[in-house]
Amino acid sequence: MNKLHIYLSHLEHNFTVLKGLIKPSTSLIGVVKASAYGTDAVSIALCLEALGIDRLAVAYTAEGVALKKAGIKCPIMVFYPQHESLETLLEYNLEPVAYSVRILNKLQSLAVDNTLKPIPLHLKFNTGLNRLGFASSIVEEIVSKSQSDYFNLISIYSHLAASEEQRPSQICETQIEKFLELKRKSKKIVSKTVAFHLLNSSGIFNYSEHQHDAVRSGIALYGFANHPEWDAMLKPVSQLTSTILQIVSVKKGETVGYNSGWVAQHDAQIATLPLGHADGISRQFGLGKIQVSINGKKASIVGNVCMDMCMIDVTKIDCHEGDEVELFGFKNSAEKVAKSGDTISYELLSNVGQRVERIIHR
Ligand SMILES: *Cc1c(COP(=O)(O)O)cnc(C)c1O
Repeated sequence: MNKLHIYLSHLEHNFTVLKGLIKPSTSLIGVVKASAYGTDAVSIALCLEALGIDRLAVAYTAEGVALKKAGIKCPIMVFYPQHESLETLLEYNLEPVAYSVRILNKLQSLAVDNTLKPIPLHLKFNTGLNRLGFASSIVEEIVSKSQSDYFNLISIYSHLAASEEQRPSQICETQIEKFLELKRKSKKIVSKTVAFHLLNSSGIFNYSEHQHDAVRSGIALYGFANHPEWDAMLKPVSQLTSTILQIVSVKKGETVGYNSGWVAQHDAQIATLPLGHADGISRQFGLGKIQVSINGKKASIVGNVCMDMCMIDVTKIDCHEGDEVELFGFKNSAEKVAKSGDTISYELLSNVGQRVERIIHR
């Protein structure tokens, strides 16, 4: 059936490559949000912890809670905590990122009410992505507020909007300038060492001189960095495979799938795979958009993808019911498949459905 193979030795390889790109004094924050980019957050986090990662990061509180419950000891920051999840976040010793005045005020009131120990805090500033973050214009006010006894300020960071774009990138240059300025202003206010960070995976490859004290890597740990040259240094961690459920013979003129998405121009052999929308095979991958790999050959998805299945044209391929098919992985790189399907590796990887069995290879 369907399997998502997860190769921890490849994770280790990517970890080592990233460590080689940063200074020994720069810490590496491993991003394991969204089930570690669709793989298995607990296995990946345990492996990264064993490799000596400095800190882990998730997007939302529930993801951090699951890791703490699984016994992860390494510090875990929560990038985008929601207002109503802050009590739980603190209860589980997760580290909140404050990105708005509303979040920072709520954290402060929780610290006052509960006389909790100082809350480990990260501050996120918006330098141009215009998604989340304090305006850089209020840096003094926010950083001063973080200096109270209620907080233990750990880091101050921002996020680039186009770190993979060929340099010079106008948006990144502007953001880097703003970040340097807010770093200068913050340093005058903070009383102890605070880590500054700006780079995600592609940023580590493209802007290594701006690594400051830490970098945050997600996609590169899983084998991709948004550029063929950088991808070549990494190894894909996940491989999605399936098996042929049935092969049907279709006569010229007959159609395949819902709404007659494909019309046979010749007599054809159609193989059905047990992978559909619910497993991460997007509707837009149908109608010939993407190809899968079978017995060393490439075959296109024909017709519309269904909820639980998709069909491929195997007329010219020597294959049988029960044969293994690779959707993405080694013969068929996730980056290339994503591109053919008008998406990016992040979406393809993180969309693999929960009913696909995860197989961990140590
Ligand atoms: C997801 C995320 C990252 C990781 O980005 P990659 O491109 O996967 O390395 C880094 N920083 C923040 C704030 C993120 O949300």
